[in-house]
Amino acid sequence: MAVTGEPSFRESVDMMFNRAVAVMDLSPGLEEKIRVCNSTYTVRFGVRLRGALQTFTGYRSVHSEHMEPVKGGIRFALSVNQDEVEALAALMTYKCALVETPFGGSKGGLRIDPRQWDEHELELITRRFAYELIKRDLINPAQNVPAPDMGTGEREMAWIVDQYKRMNTTDINGAACVTGKPLNSGGIQGRVEATGRGVQYALREFFRHSDDMKACGMTGKLAGKRIVIQGLGNVGYHAALFLSTEDDARIIAIIERDGALHNPDGLNVQAVRDWVAEHGGVKDCPEGTYEADGAKLLELDCDILIPAALEGVIHKGNAKNIKAPLIIEAANGPITAGADEILRKKGAVIIPDMYANAGGVTVSYFEWVKNLSHIRFGRMQRRQEEARHQLLIDELERLSADKGLGWTLSPGFKEQYLRGAGELELVRSGLDDTMRAAYQSISDVWHSRNDVTDMRMAAYVVAIDRVAKSYRSKGL
Ligand code: NAD
Repeated sequence: MAVTGEPSFRESVDMMFNRAVAVMDLSPGLEEKIRVCNSTYTVRFGVRLRGALQTFTGYRSVHSEHMEPVKGGIRFALSVNQDEVEALAALMTYKCALVETPFGGSKGGLRIDPRQWDEHELELITRRFAYELIKRDLINPAQNVPAPDMGTGEREMAWIVDQYKRMNTTDINGAACVTGKPLNSGGIQGRVEATGRGVQYALREFFRHSDDMKACGMTGKLAGKRIVIQGLGNVGYHAALFLSTEDDARIIAIIERDGALHNPDGLNVQAVRDWVAEHGGVKDCPEGTYEADGAKLLELDCDILIPAALEGVIHKGNAKNIKAPLIIEAANGPITAGADEILRKKGAVIIPDMYANAGGVTVSYFEWVKNLSHIRFGRMQRRQEEARHQLLIDELERLSADKGLGWTLSPGFKEQYLRGAGELELVRSGLDDTMRAAYQSISDVWHSRNDVTDMRMAAYVVAIDRVAKSYRSKGL
């Protein structure tokens, strides 16, 4: 956790914002309008559980409504507070602008340890929280669309959409009131993996930019790179799994709540995940050596560090010991403003959160569009595409036979080529395209301006510029 004397999460985000606007040409009024959080609603509600009335505190913060609906996850954690929710809402504004999703920024949180309650109790609590937000239009397909975050997932989103539909029985677009839903409640394929998948696509894109690699002294390919990852939840698990199984990177350490596992030869991510699911932590997992002081392994000698758990884990107290030349912020705000400065001075490259974990909101956008269009992606084109491909294959085979050419297609080619793109393929393609385009916009600003010194600053400049344009076009 952050050492004392460091700014709060919200102040950290503002300091990073200030670094960017210092090199931009915004009027002070517009600068202030973009920075401030428009509103934060705090709710305290009671639910009768275990024979007593239990009171819970929740928040929904709207940072910027330059575009509506506003978008941002709902977090269930004991650490939730107004400062955190407002910081996360601000990051959502910049993130949505950076990846060109037509949303303003918002975030919600409920101060609760979800592991202390059973499923039925959690459903009652979630539905009651959702009720409080829905009746104030703080959950609404046209105004405010939540998604999963730490401590929440498909299950909670299914309860929320059901609650909304019960309260808005004639809203034909009701399914679009929240994203990250299970498929049978209007979800989209590829949403669960989306944020981790986005981290993978972001890293692949980084390794396509040799100039950017040079900035942190990195050479070669993603394959074989030694990765340390913190948090094996939704984001961390998918990122680690894809990077190790599809890109041949080596996950040498996994840091969890109860400690860390270390294996210089590479950990089997699926085996560790299964162990955590069964035993509640990484302790005694035979895949690697256990280290009780998990956070210490953030300082391990590695090529890439992926904090994918919570904010403020890299702070002034440990930043100078971090050895990774490349850090990709899969979590929101894992590096404090103070640590950011120390790391930059050391020459580390940081791929910032607002870009690195934008895969979630990108695929949420696709889900929202799917819900509003009431049709699954690929349903109209897939078989037509397959039929056209079949025509070409038939023609090739006919030519080969007629002319006695003896052509044979490579094994697997025909099957792969003939398969039309279904929803999952389209979602991944849209996500990849989005991550590449956003990377390019950051990279262009980073390299074309002398006053923009790092990727985070460049990402803020791109995002704030887009938000400012949107405000200006409204006459503000
Ligand atoms: P999650 O609840 O699925 O997983 C969090 C993981 O971190 C859990 O495995 C938990 O045990 C672990 N953890 C908690 N405290 C820890 C500690 N002190 N040290 C090490 N590990 C610890 O949450 P998630 O959805 O994967 O979110 C993780 C981060 O990614 C958050 O910062 C969140 O805001 C961000 N994020 C999530 C999404 C999404 O789509 N879920 C999208 C964008 C950003």
